[in-house]
Amino acid sequence: MTKYALALHGGAGAKLGEIYTGVEAHLRGLAAQGEAMLKGGSNAVDVVEKMVCDLESCGFYVAGKGSAPNLAGQVELDASIMDGSNRNAGAVAAIQDVKNPIAVARAVMEHSPSIMLAGSGATSFAKKRDFAMVDDPASYYILPVGVSKQDIDVSDMQHGTVGAVALDGQGNLAAATSTGGTFGKPAGRVGDTPIIGIGTWADQEIAISCTGTGEYFIRSGGALAVANRFALTGDTLEQALWAMLDEVAELGGDGGLIAVSKEGNIAMAYNSDGMKRAAVSSNSEIQATTFAPCR
Ligand code: ASP
Repeated sequence: MTKYALALHGGAGAKLGEIYTGVEAHLRGLAAQGEAMLKGGSNAVDVVEKMVCDLESCGFYVAGKGSAPNLAGQVELDASIMDGSNRNAGAVAAIQDVKNPIAVARAVMEHSPSIMLAGSGATSFAKKRDFAMVDDPASYYILPVGVSKQDIDVSDMQHGTVGAVALDGQGNLAAATSTGGTFGKPAGRVGDTPIIGIGTWADQEIAISCTGTGEYFIRSGGALAVANRFALTGDTLEQALWAMLDEVAELGGDGGLIAVSKEGNIAMAYNSDGMKRAAVSSNSEIQATTFAPCR
């Protein structure tokens, strides 16, 4: 039987006491679509891009449509994607007015000599390549469905990034991550999400997508620290994830991450109250949850 695996996250900003049934159903449905793609022979990069595009477009998460404005009133988005088969990678940071930043990140990966484009350069790149743009940012972007402005305490850096990691039937791995950033962020602030090796990483052994207070993930070495640990120390996937996440916690941050290995193992870890997530593989049924403990 062909081996495949897929994991998704909708951010580690889940709050105890909230009910995420709708989000979990959405993640479950998306995981089913992703599984069908993988079973049908799609490659890991196509699958993670499709998953993240849908997560960006639905408005449930703090990415794409669900993003909130920064302190200057602008919506600045970050995204990155990596193809583990050849270590190609692409990213956009502080891009504005695009509907699907992950699709632009993929175009940077495939059609530009750069790895990351930021700010107005990233936005013009997207416009030149005819990516779907937001005509009226004030009415397109919404706070995540079910959250009102009054519910948001911008002093508490909330987060709800989205991400996907996949192993395809050819044995290739890929990862993608997209965010509107932390609520109440200053203009120009860029977190871990678009940084290859921090928010996103994929090689021939492992694919990783992180979510949480990006500053702490950057200071903890992020996804590449996990990949190196997994490759070099004999740690299990879970141990490698927790080693980096424990450093995030020691520095005062919180968040979570998902990973898949070339063996088709999936690991998910978070040290916040909860992480919206789903997973499926050739030897496990779809599971979607927010608060189930993972250590
Ligand atoms: N990591 C994202 C950032 O710092 C936020 C999040 O994951 O929710 O921009």
